[in-house]
Amino acid sequence: MVHSGKKLRRKKKDNDDRATISQVFDTYTRLIVARLINNRVISGLFGCISTGKEANVYHSTDGKHKPLSADVEAIKMPKNKENIASFSSSSSKAPIDSSTVSEYAVKVYKTSIMQFRDRERYVEGEQRFEKGYKKHNSKKMVQLWCEKEARNLMRLYKLPPSLSINTPRVIAKKEHVLVMEFIGKDGIAAPKLKDAAPFLPHTRLVKLYWELVRAMRTLYVHGRLVHGDLSEYNILYYKKKPFIIDVSQSVEKDHPMSDVFLRMDIHNVTSFFMKYGVCVMKRKRLFDFITA
Ligand code: ATP
Ligand code: MN
Repeated sequence: MVHSGKKLRRKKKDNDDRATISQVFDTYTRLIVARLINNRVISGLFGCISTGKEANVYHSTDGKHKPLSADVEAIKMPKNKENIASFSSSSSKAPIDSSTVSEYAVKVYKTSIMQFRDRERYVEGEQRFEKGYKKHNSKKMVQLWCEKEARNLMRLYKLPPSLSINTPRVIAKKEHVLVMEFIGKDGIAAPKLKDAAPFLPHTRLVKLYWELVRAMRTLYVHGRLVHGDLSEYNILYYKKKPFIIDVSQSVEKDHPMSDVFLRMDIHNVTSFFMKYGVCVMKRKRLFDFITA
């Protein structure tokens, strides 16, 4: 069969897109994303916000308000690391009318087993999850992490307004894909505290420190959780407030290691604010304040 040049180019492009999608997601993950689109939970995946060791996070919008692409091939994916950067910065071009459409962040956990080895210590001793945790089944393990993150976020979101902690609201959870509220606007994610801090005035940093002290205590006393990986990397700065994210490894306060994890969290937050000259509480005092 003879193809015209244009047809050939289009065919090559289609093949490239397909190759890219399969490189990023396995078939199973593509199916889950397609279902989320077909069920009008999300409208697609517009841009990659973050590629981490354990998960990739994409920007999306509410599926009810947009024309739907029923086909998984419509999910546009970046081709490589360079493209991820440009794709990310151009993601504001996604067809969003932020006055009517809610923006979502879609966290897709990676299904490869290696990344999750050192996470066992967070699950062992967790009555909520220990039973379902199957070390030999990576798919199940990853789903459990996603489940843990969704449940922890929901628990925090349900706290009464007087005890509220700023976290993303959970929209949906399907297998190892978590759809949550997007912290940011028009496709631009809020910066991590680490990146925002150098540009903030001292008084704002002092306020943020005390807000985080309060948040850690609320998390412990009312949420009955210890974050377990709290640092300037897992706090987003949005609307002048700290938003706590990435709670998949958070443990119940009666977990045998919870004190160790809490001390780590306190250490990270304290050293970060000390670096910026904020007058901080002694670590031991802060620990007593949180747990008292
Ligand atoms: P990493 O290994 O990079 O820490 P991770 O697997 O721990 O990734 P998260 O920390 O939950 O995943 O998310 C990674 C990044 O994605 C965050 O640092 C943040 O920039 C962005 N992100 C995550 N959730 C949201 C959200 N709800 N709204 C906006 N941005 C988000
Ligand atoms: Mn993180």
